[in-house]
Order: sequence, then C-alpha cells, then structure tokens
Amino acid sequence: MKRDARYGSGMNATKTKRARPNIVKGAGRLTPLNPPLARGEADGANGSNRRKASDRPEAANRPKPSEMERAMNARDASYDGIFYICVRTTGIFCRPSCSARKPKLKNVVFLHSVRDCLLGGFRPCKRCHPLALDKESATWLEQLINLVERSPGERYTDANLSELGFSPFRIRRYFTRNLHMTFQAYHRARRMGMALRQLRSGDEADAVAVDQGYESLSGFRDSFKRVFGTTPGDCDSIDCIYTKKIDSPIGPLVAGATTEGVCLLEFADRRAFQKQVATLRSRLKAACVPGRNAHLDQLERELREYFSGSRTEFTVPLVIAGNDFQTRVWNELRRVPHGKTMSYSELARQIGAPGAQRAVGRTNGENRIAIVIPCHRVVRSDGTLCGYGGGVWRKKFLLDLEQKSSALFI
Ligand SMILES: [Zn+2]
Repeated sequence: MKRDARYGSGMNATKTKRARPNIVKGAGRLTPLNPPLARGEADGANGSNRRKASDRPEAANRPKPSEMERAMNARDASYDGIFYICVRTTGIFCRPSCSARKPKLKNVVFLHSVRDCLLGGFRPCKRCHPLALDKESATWLEQLINLVERSPGERYTDANLSELGFSPFRIRRYFTRNLHMTFQAYHRARRMGMALRQLRSGDEADAVAVDQGYESLSGFRDSFKRVFGTTPGDCDSIDCIYTKKIDSPIGPLVAGATTEGVCLLEFADRRAFQKQVATLRSRLKAACVPGRNAHLDQLERELREYFSGSRTEFTVPLVIAGNDFQTRVWNELRRVPHGKTMSYSELARQIGAPGAQRAVGRTNGENRIAIVIPCHRVVRSDGTLCGYGGGVWRKKFLLDLEQKSSALFI
C-alpha cells in the first residue's frame, strides 16, 4: 500500500492545462449599445470580486455565477461581452444590460461566447443586439441576422451577400475583430443550434436536415457529429455540466452537475484536477460551463451542514460516470457509514474481488465526487491513514470531523 500516496498525483498538470476561453478576452471590446441603467449598484461588486476569482485557467476572467446574477439584475453594462444571458423559455440570448424584463433565474443559463449561445439554440435578442458595437452596426447586423433566421439553409457567399446589399468586407472585418468568428462560422453554429432545438422538440432528423438546408441526411449527421460529438438521434444526451466553486473549511472545491445530478466535486488545487474534468467531459459528452442548477444548490447546502456536523448522509442525486468496476467500487464506498472506515482489502472483498486491493485503491483515487462518495473512509488494514487525492491532511480533517459529529448523534 506504499503506492497509495501517489494516487491521483501522477499527472503533469502543465500538460493538461487548457487554453483560456477565447471570447472572454476580446469580446470585452464591444462597447455597450445602451447606457447602463444602474451604474451605482454595479461599481461596488465589480472589481474586487473579479480579482478574487479562482486561478484555474478556465475560470480566469470569468465572473462567478453570483456576480453574473447580480450583473443581470443590475443591468450592468460593464459585463456586456463578458457573458451572455440565455433564456431557455424564449430561446433568446441577451447582453447583461438588456432593458427587457428580467427572466426568472431558473430559466437562465449564463454563457461566455456567442458560439456557445448559438449552439445552445439561442438567437440574438432584437432589443439589446448582443452582437452590436454601436447603433450603426446594429442596423446592418440586424438585417444580416434576420436573413439567417429566415432562411438558415441558404448558402451565404460573398457574391450573394453583395447582391443582397451587404458589404462582405465589412462583415468579415466586423465578425473577426469583434466576435472572433467569421460570419460563416456564425451561420453554421446558429444552424446547428436550431437543428438541436428542433430535434429536441421531437422532429425527425431527415426533416430537420431539409429545414436546415442540408442536401443529405448523412451530410447533416456528419456536421452534427463534428459539432456535438454525437449523432442527431442521441441529441437528448447532449448536456452541460454546470460548474461552481464552493468554499469549505479545507479549501475551495469545484462542483459540477448536469440536469441529472452531481457529477463532480473535487479540490480545486488537486494536481489531477484537469485530467478528472477532461475524463468527465468525454464520458458525459458534455461541455463545462460556469453556472448553477438545483443539484448544485442542494449540494452546497448539504456540504454546509456536513461541515457544521449536522449532516451524516448526502441525498443529492449523483451521476456516477464510471466503468463497471469503478461503479461497483464507488457504490460500495457509499455504503461505508459516516464516522466509520474500511480497509482496501475489505472493500475488495465486499465487491466480490478479493485480492484486488490495488485496483480498488487506484479506483478509489479516481473518485470524482469527493466527500459525497467517501473515498476518505478507506484506510490501511492497520487503521493508519494513507494517500488521498486532496492530501492526507484533508483526509484526517474529514475523518476527525465525522468522528466528532457521529459522537453527537449517539
Ligand atoms: Zn436582450
């Protein structure tokens, strides 16, 4: 069991470092169309909160969900271009400063790039023109966007854009400079987003292919697969993993949840963190976006109670995206009661694989839902502590906490 200390720490973190989100940096150059409505309220939380953001690469420059919620309610124009408000019920995306009535938070998704909004099936709002830099661009952009909305299946070449009275040069310069995508990429993403929406509402794939201007079903299927990583028939499986940072007495955790349940809870400073997230994304065929949903809210509440000593069991739904062996080990771990521990060999016996303690130990280290799937409750046969992905000191803290709070329940 000497190898335990290495579980989950063999990754070279720099190898898996992801690029910064491209749209966030540059899109900030878009200046607001409408003057901010609530500057006074906005200024206070703006700078300081953003500086405190987590230093993980993908979280850099991204405001926290609570900050986005505040910016949305305050119609804070300083966040225009930083994130977009996508409204599920209407299928529209807006600037934070949009003057339209604010949607209910449960119907909102915050996204950080125009492309993500389009692929989510959202179209730009006609009131706040989230793609527009000024009144002049708003006018011709609206005509261009309407063109795509009316006939998404058309081919828009420079020649026919000129015929329709647009300047292909201006379009090219505007889209690449301000939106970091070409107009053609905009058109493709919007078309795919529309297709996804149609499929989800129950339309047949071949009808959708025709509507979106594809000459063949196979051509549509290929494009769809390139963008979403799966076939049109599997469109319901395309999901988002909403991620949120949760503070705890033993350091910040990053939690993730799909519409089905919690799939990630990991210490933000864990060296294998990036690898864990990458595995999860490919297993669930989902993109990670900062945000929140009911499962994350429940998890946060339950963790607060757990750390205060008043909760001994988690009831939040989980998405355990593992292979057969991993699923067996992780489910067995969930049966180890609060305040108790189990050895690796005992755990191997419990899942009907006596002698497989090494594999069990490795799988234990691969657990992506720390604390809730209590891999910290596994110890050496002699009862001493050994490695833990988040560090042995955290394992000790959790076991001590559970001992203390179990004593309160007796
Ligand atoms: Zn709007």
